[in-house]
Amino acid sequence: MRTLAIKRTTQNLIQTGIDVLFVAEQQKGIVDMNEQLKLCQCGGKAELRHKGNEYTKKRSSIIGCTAFGCTIQQVVSTMHRSLEWCDEKAIEKWNRRPIEDALNKQVTDYQIANELLTAKLAALNAKLTRITIDKRKLANKLQEHVS
Ligand SMILES: [Zn+2]
Repeated sequence: MRTLAIKRTTQNLIQTGIDVLFVAEQQKGIVDMNEQLKLCQCGGKAELRHKGNEYTKKRSSIIGCTAFGCTIQQVVSTMHRSLEWCDEKAIEKWNRRPIEDALNKQVTDYQIANELLTAKLAALNAKLTRITIDKRKLANKLQEHVS
């Protein structure tokens, strides 16, 4: 009876140790993963969590905003692939910003257009300066002929 109790206690301790190590490794992984996450659209910090693990039927990677009241989240679940796959997909989806990317492209296009227009304006100003000088020279010549 006592041997059985000791055996159970030992098994429990080993299992607890394994669980602690698993959680620690998982948390370490999650911390590293969190560094890859862009801020939430609201400006809040994003955090990656897991639901289930490699031993459960279904597993999910959930990226959510930690800002109070913000419910924005990205969930990727699978039954046949690994949690790492879920993490990768969830991070890829979370970090995708189509509106921001489109706006950034527009800003770049406007900057290029602005540079072109600035160059054209400089060329026109140089031409105007030449014309003004020529006009003055002609006005002086005309003045000499008149007088
Ligand atoms: Zn948010």
